[in-house]
Amino acid sequence: MSQEASAYTNFPSVQDVWFAKKRISPLVKPSPLIYSPVVSAQVGAEVYIKLETVHPTGAFKLRGATNKILSLSQIEREKGVTTYSTGNHGLAVAYVARQLGIPAVICVSHNVPQAKIDVLERSGATLEVSGHSQDEAAENCHILQSEHGLTLIEPFDDPHVIAGQGTMGLEILNDLPSINKVLIPLSGGGLLAGIALALKTNVPHIHITGVSPTASPVMIRSIEAGRPLQLEEKETLADSLLGGIGLTNRLTFPLVQRFMDGSALVSEEEILQGLSYMFKHHKMVVEGAAAVGIGALLCGHLPVEKNDKVVVIISGNQVDSEVFLRFAQSPTLTSHERKKSP
Ligand SMILES: *Cc1c(COP(=O)(O)O)cnc(C)c1O
Repeated sequence: MSQEASAYTNFPSVQDVWFAKKRISPLVKPSPLIYSPVVSAQVGAEVYIKLETVHPTGAFKLRGATNKILSLSQIEREKGVTTYSTGNHGLAVAYVARQLGIPAVICVSHNVPQAKIDVLERSGATLEVSGHSQDEAAENCHILQSEHGLTLIEPFDDPHVIAGQGTMGLEILNDLPSINKVLIPLSGGGLLAGIALALKTNVPHIHITGVSPTASPVMIRSIEAGRPLQLEEKETLADSLLGGIGLTNRLTFPLVQRFMDGSALVSEEEILQGLSYMFKHHKMVVEGAAAVGIGALLCGHLPVEKNDKVVVIISGNQVDSEVFLRFAQSPTLTSHERKKSP
């Protein structure tokens, strides 16, 4: 057992984030924070982008998965790990397991598109295909856990995962101690909870905005309702932000409730604007989930002032080529087309 394990009987602390930073450092390098002259000029504040697209798997999920897997005992490592995510979390688990020589089983359903299966297979994990929904894949994953002793690596509602994502907050403070606002893509809330824990514990006045697609507002609606909800979701360009928060959510719901100061819902059009802006002005290809913050800022969802130092989390780059072609051809916003701030 690692020395800070007792702290994990409950919520992760900022000290756990420091432990995570040290633990993941051999496998996960800090990501760059760069000034965005174009977004800054467009919105009238100092805007910086945190590029989580530089990781070997193309998304921040590597931080949490690495921290979780490195905290397992030797016996747990030998038995192996499992997960049912087919997105960035699944890729991260497969990657870390391969780096450490740990067996990994990703449970998928027959409905998962072949393109995703191919990517996961290339990552070196074993795939178990069963059932016809994400729920059936998850069920299979739980069977592997209970009957074969594999450790289920949760995508967000886990203290080690949250602390791992939180390492991003320490890097931001190191690079830009004067930060006063941050925009964070929000789905299950591991990303927001981790970053907020690291930022707010050090600098309580930093204003935290969670950004979700209008098509998938589960966490934001749950916060409004004061309890975890289950909602129907629609298709969205920000596909990495799909998926519920779990009716039995233990950690991310209360942490988001405690730390989030405001939220924004962005339309598909606004996500497209974010994607297209990142491509045309930064020459960067990112995924829909990573563009929600830029979209929200450009479209006036977060009022900013001249002296604000705003960080936007660019969370990943797993974009489908068809979607890429769509936004590469769409026109970008000009200032007179922008919606006025409320
Ligand atoms: C998972 C993911 C998110 C959201 O993170 P949560 O911890 O689920 O809130 C945002 N962007 C990308 C690219 C992701 O893969």
